[in-house]
Amino acid sequence: MSGELLSTRSDPSRSSSLPGTPRRGDPGGRISPLQYLKGVGPKRASALESIGIRTIDALLTYFPRAYLDRSTILPIIDLRRALGVGEAVTVIGEVVRSEVRRSKRRGRSIFFLVVRDSTAVLTCVWFEGAEWYRKAFETGEMLALSAVPSLDSFGRVQFVHPEFDRLRGALEEDEPDWGAMVNTGAIVPKYPSSAELAKVGLDSRGFRRILRAAVQKQADHMHDPLPETVRETWKLAPLPQALRAVHFPVDQQELERARQRLKFDELFNFQLMLALRKRRYHVERPGISFSPDGALARQLKDTLPFSLTPAQRKVIQEITEDMQLPRPMNRLLQGDVGSGKTVVALLAMLIAIDSGYQAAFMAPTEILAEQHYTALRRFLGELPINVRLLLGGQKKRLREEILEDVRSGGAHITVGTHALLEEGVSFGKLGLVVIDEQHRFGVLQRAALQGKGTDPDVLVMTATPIPRTLAMTAYGDLDVSVIDEMPADRKPIRTAIRLESQKEKVYEFVRQEIARGRQAFVVFPLIEESEKLDLKAATKEFDHLRSAVFPEQRLGLLHGRLSTEEKDEVMRAFRSGAMDILVATTVIEVGIDVPNATVMLIENAERFGLSQLHQLRGRVGRGADQSYCILIANYEAIGTRRGMGATDLQREKRAAERRLETMVETTDGFRIAEVDLELRGPGEVFGTRQSGLPELKIADLVEDKELLMHARNAAFALISQDPHLRKPEHDGLRALFDERLRDLYSLGNVS
Ligand code: ADP
Ligand code: MG
Repeated sequence: MSGELLSTRSDPSRSSSLPGTPRRGDPGGRISPLQYLKGVGPKRASALESIGIRTIDALLTYFPRAYLDRSTILPIIDLRRALGVGEAVTVIGEVVRSEVRRSKRRGRSIFFLVVRDSTAVLTCVWFEGAEWYRKAFETGEMLALSAVPSLDSFGRVQFVHPEFDRLRGALEEDEPDWGAMVNTGAIVPKYPSSAELAKVGLDSRGFRRILRAAVQKQADHMHDPLPETVRETWKLAPLPQALRAVHFPVDQQELERARQRLKFDELFNFQLMLALRKRRYHVERPGISFSPDGALARQLKDTLPFSLTPAQRKVIQEITEDMQLPRPMNRLLQGDVGSGKTVVALLAMLIAIDSGYQAAFMAPTEILAEQHYTALRRFLGELPINVRLLLGGQKKRLREEILEDVRSGGAHITVGTHALLEEGVSFGKLGLVVIDEQHRFGVLQRAALQGKGTDPDVLVMTATPIPRTLAMTAYGDLDVSVIDEMPADRKPIRTAIRLESQKEKVYEFVRQEIARGRQAFVVFPLIEESEKLDLKAATKEFDHLRSAVFPEQRLGLLHGRLSTEEKDEVMRAFRSGAMDILVATTVIEVGIDVPNATVMLIENAERFGLSQLHQLRGRVGRGADQSYCILIANYEAIGTRRGMGATDLQREKRAAERRLETMVETTDGFRIAEVDLELRGPGEVFGTRQSGLPELKIADLVEDKELLMHARNAAFALISQDPHLRKPEHDGLRALFDERLRDLYSLGNVS
């Protein structure tokens, strides 16, 4: 989203008013402002347009993806002097020869590459991916290689796993003179490109040229929207200087400063938007001020069959305080699977009921809604609370009766699915909305339920563990409460990795557990790309399991092709104990609670992502018995996927191993989420659109944690002082947010 924000700065109509850019509306057709740049004609302009770059300003935010640091280039003969410094250095040389050798001890293939420059020769070593590298280099080819130099067992200087760039002769990097290049010592930007872009000459080198022109023409004229006070407080470079240096830095220090400034902009703009949104919807609206000390909540606490964990108490305190305030609560309750969110939600609902209001509790599927309904009734016991369950397919008479109960205010708590959102459903006095597994619902659905009351309080719950900094961004306009510990009586689930060859033993173990009266899940990954083929594979596997492996057990199959009703049917049978083993291809319903299930057997576990594995494992370990999660690893199968090179394959295998090992090491969802982030990055982990995470061009939510905190503090402080950006020193920001602000005012009661 901050991408959008940045691009408002690059809106053509705005750009055209900047000095140095052409006017729009030339007679005879639209001419892209980019064409006024040296080196850009109609073809390149339209190629740029296809990647969203329409103006010079936008081009300036097409940031390098990496830099080739030639400032530390050394002749090979001098490498010895760089030993022990611990910093990467670069050499430039030509390939003399290469070979693959087998190591004596472990029989592994090792790849050796010998390069030379005019001073000496250097050997580079790769311990992995030998087969790929063998084909990668040609004798005589020019390479820039960089690594931290080390010594081999004979005391010779070597490079281990160096980074490299191919240099097509001396021309590739713009300098025609080889000698001059080594001596210039510049930091050279490398730009992302694509086959399409390269066709019109916009490879990294082409971009370098037009960016040099763009920087010269425009960078100094850019208006800096960031107020001076913010810039001074955080010691940030001025915008023109930062734009110049991010593309053509003089040294590392200047580059770093430029990047900090531009990252700050991205993070700050996004946080500013969140601060504005929060202000509009939560701070500036009247809400219900619930009374904190009701009798019902107290009674419930006294009758619970367990004592609340300190973490549950802490979040209940936070929620209670928030509900007291005369503004609508908008709070995210985060807690791992099994951490006990339901009872927390119930306590919040009782606070609302104690003050004379109704509560609505929405779950993503019927089976979950039913489960919540049962759990709430069980918790409530004898308490005089009227709980209703509203589902899609209910009989007309029952439905009418429930709707009337809800309308009249008689139903204290209404649990339901999307059915709650329908037009015919209206509440007498809705005070609190609780939404379970919030990621399954869109913002509009949340708003629709909210709209059934007058600015009711909202509590959304999620079992997706997110590191704090990410939560601040993805849910930055919500307040966040976290349950960060599990009830003490839980036996940790035992997790083990087993190989394909050990499967019979594993099956035998499953049979034993079932003989003891327990139940098991067997899960397959989506193997084929088409659902149809996948269904076929699953059915085959299922038949095999049923006839050959578990002939004496009762099995059921759950797959993606079943309708919601059919899925619920299978789940119900499993939950009721009418089925011993549930075989599933789709992820089993998040949040489903079958305490008697003690085995989670995952086939081809190497194919699953970490968060999926964690969610799956969370389906067991919910009762008093010891539970087990068995990961069947088939690392060899990874290679069979199409179009994977040797290096990718290695990386993929290592990542798979790391995932499974992480599962064995820890059951902590936050720790698992961290590793997942490390392996995949935030974009992959959360999906930018769905999660509300911005698409960032330069900042990194994992690496730039500290900067994110600063940016957030700065943004929220600014909005609290000038909520409508009316002060003259905020003119620049106001212009930047003009469209956004209009959206904010007109969107209504969203999020
Ligand atoms: P989730 O956070 O995944 O929604 P639930 O609310 O379904 O978790 O709770 C999981 C199970 O733990 C339920 O059976 C619930 O009754 C139980 N539970 C909740 N809080 C505690 C506690 N403090 N001590 C023991 N068991 C608890
Ligand atoms: Mg739950």
